[in-house]
Amino acid sequence: MKVLKFGGTSVGSSKNINNVISILEKYAKKDSVVCVVSAVGGITDKLLLAGKQAQNKDTNYIDTFALIKDIHFNIINELNPNKSNAIIDYVDEQLSDLKNLLDGIYLINELSPKTSDKLVSFGELLSSFIIAETMKSRGLSTERKNSQELMITNSNFTKAEVNYSVTNKNIQDYFKTASQEITILPGFVSKSLTGEQTTLGRGGSDFTAAIVAAALKVKQLEIWTDVSGMFTTNPKLVKQAYPIDKISYQEAMELSHFGAKVLYPPTVQPVLDLQIPIHIKNTLEPEAVGTIISNDKTNSTSPVKGISNISNIALLTLQGSGMIGIPGFSKRLFETLSQEKINIIMITQASSEHSICLGIDEKEADIAKTAIDTAFENEIALHKIDPIIVETNLSIIALVGDNMKNHQGISGKMFSALGKNNINIRAIAQGASEKNISAVIAENDVKKALNTLHEQFFEAKTKQLNVFITGVGNVGEKLVEQIKQQRKYLKENLKINLRITGLSNSRKMIFDEEGIDLKNWKDLLANGETATLDGFFENTKALNLRNSIFVDVTANKDVAGLYANYLRESIGVVACNKIACSSDFENYKLLKRLSLKYNAPYLFETNVGAGLPIIDTLNNLIASGDKVKSIHAVLSGSLNFVFNNFNDTTKFYDIVKQAGAEGYTEPDPRIDLSGVDVARKILILARESGMEMNLEDIKNTPFLSESGLKSDTVDDFYETLIADEAHYQSLFASAKANKSQLKYVAALNNGKASVSLQEIPEGHPFYNLKGSDNIVMFYTERYPEQPMIIKGAGAGADVTASGLFADIIRIGNN
Ligand code: ADP
Ligand code: ASP
Ligand code: MG
Repeated sequence: MKVLKFGGTSVGSSKNINNVISILEKYAKKDSVVCVVSAVGGITDKLLLAGKQAQNKDTNYIDTFALIKDIHFNIINELNPNKSNAIIDYVDEQLSDLKNLLDGIYLINELSPKTSDKLVSFGELLSSFIIAETMKSRGLSTERKNSQELMITNSNFTKAEVNYSVTNKNIQDYFKTASQEITILPGFVSKSLTGEQTTLGRGGSDFTAAIVAAALKVKQLEIWTDVSGMFTTNPKLVKQAYPIDKISYQEAMELSHFGAKVLYPPTVQPVLDLQIPIHIKNTLEPEAVGTIISNDKTNSTSPVKGISNISNIALLTLQGSGMIGIPGFSKRLFETLSQEKINIIMITQASSEHSICLGIDEKEADIAKTAIDTAFENEIALHKIDPIIVETNLSIIALVGDNMKNHQGISGKMFSALGKNNINIRAIAQGASEKNISAVIAENDVKKALNTLHEQFFEAKTKQLNVFITGVGNVGEKLVEQIKQQRKYLKENLKINLRITGLSNSRKMIFDEEGIDLKNWKDLLANGETATLDGFFENTKALNLRNSIFVDVTANKDVAGLYANYLRESIGVVACNKIACSSDFENYKLLKRLSLKYNAPYLFETNVGAGLPIIDTLNNLIASGDKVKSIHAVLSGSLNFVFNNFNDTTKFYDIVKQAGAEGYTEPDPRIDLSGVDVARKILILARESGMEMNLEDIKNTPFLSESGLKSDTVDDFYETLIADEAHYQSLFASAKANKSQLKYVAALNNGKASVSLQEIPEGHPFYNLKGSDNIVMFYTERYPEQPMIIKGAGAGADVTASGLFADIIRIGNN
């Protein structure tokens, strides 16, 4: 004999019921079958809703009733085109009883637990009858037995306790004489010894099946549901979750106790002693292997088996200096809750006994508070303890695994992964058996926490990065294209799952939690919502995704002003925008501090030398204990362009114009030609070398003519270039006479930084610098004579985008 249970979705439509029937038909060819069914999916909730509406004098209960009726008749019509009278008679009768009950609740506006049980029982009674009669009408040897005649409980309505001796005997007696091949039983429903209708608790059909399986000592219990087994974590919240092949009873119990709804927690009890394995299968995908719950130890290599969560938790904290050493204190606390029938989900107590923390269902928080404050009235009046503190909007997440006790550092990994993602932990509990480690966190963080932990323990090798890019001009567009092109490579080779989850230009912004489709991102963005800087930040924050990175591809001061906000949310910042790093020292320091405090990387490699690994190299030198003595560098692509092309056959004005046209200078060329841009870069290198410095501290010897320096507008400035051609020619002539090349050089020496145009003689590493190339020479304690030199293209959209990309990958590799 086999016992199978089909859940709400499995019997939620005529199509699924047909699936169920064909599965049963196949099984019945080999052996007799007992099939426990739930109510049609969603019906239990609707019955309760109708009951609540009637109780509240809300006449909508009539509509809800009509909906319940429609759902059942639609299924009947689809299943039995030439409806059997037995079904119609029974369903009509039941529905009329149901309607009477609801009218009664409406009249007296009261819905007691006892009435509630009567009400919800209709769901399973109807579904089991419809399925059984359909099967009979198709010639299958089937009987439906009302489980209320078998399952006997106490009168603890809505979650009654089973009287096993009576129940087991009833089941055994019934099946001793039953001659049909297939028996359909309604799950969840039962009766008390005094004959009142009771139920086994929400989700209790699983339990019914387990009780029957144990009473009949069958070889296996099968729970058929809408997912392909017990998953590593809730598949509705974590896309990467996958079914667990084999799991122990204890692990399954812990996971279900901590919220894995796929199995009703008490289900394991009846079958555990008899070692009857539970097989979880998917009605919608019968070929999938599913999960076997048993004591078979062969498959328990990984220490963490699953991660689960329970929502709507309230945390009660009782504390006070008077608690220390009072015997029986905890006993009184637990007794108080037990008298109120409040279930304690989690307990933690500080070793000083100064406080005790309990996790309970949020719905019961008010009752718990009143009861505890009353029970400890005297101690509170004497200030020995404080009135109980209640916090809500919390959730418990739990790691579960029999083998965790044999592995060191699992809780360390768990908490550091959560910490890195700015998930605040309110309380922690670890069972003495070390089969679970649980933590209380904000409800709002649950999805992020589950995904983070799943990645940590089940996808150890892949890391998801969620990138939010602001600014998709020249460089930004290149970055998006590079990401699009490299995604597959990163996944396969670096195990980085890089997704762009937010995009914005100055007009529009878009977000997609699942990653923006990069095939047509431009169209998507064009149709996005109106962009604001705050809106972009708020949306990024609200998505609350793990490993989030904000990428600033603008040159905008206001965007730079928001980095602190991002870092405080543990969102990493990658910027090619130089403004923040070259702003006043206090702000630079603050961003560095926030980055450390909130575990959020702040990277800006492209601030100096575009894609060249200048800052990263400098950081590595310092991290490994080296000290910078001096830096000599040519850091301006624009000035290189100008001085590489300017000579006695060209005009300075023409060259500067050309540089502008080809995108080598800022729209305002004075920022480049005045040396400010280079000053910012050497300032950043000085700061990264550990020096406290501001822009004013950098000695800037201008090469522009006096009128050029004083010009008020860009147009005026260009005018001065024409007027002062002789001044610029004299610079060239002097260099030529000295057999030198003009280069704009930044230097850092003895803690002092300067920028100036210099004549570079032949043989000097700067002499042959071509095009927009940059070069940096680091003289350090380890490189005292021969400097460490980094040289290459130091400007251009492509290389800048790849520098940003490299920063993103650096975060991914960390
Ligand atoms: P049924 O109606 O068949 O009893 P339930 O809705 O009670 O089905 O349980 C199945 C649901 O449990 C799944 O659809 C899934 O959303 C949820 N669930 C939560 N945690 C897990 C988990 N770890 N593995 C599988 N399912 C889970
Ligand atoms: N129908 C009941 C519920 O929804 C029992 C079950 O489906 O297991 O809770
Ligand atoms: Mg269920």
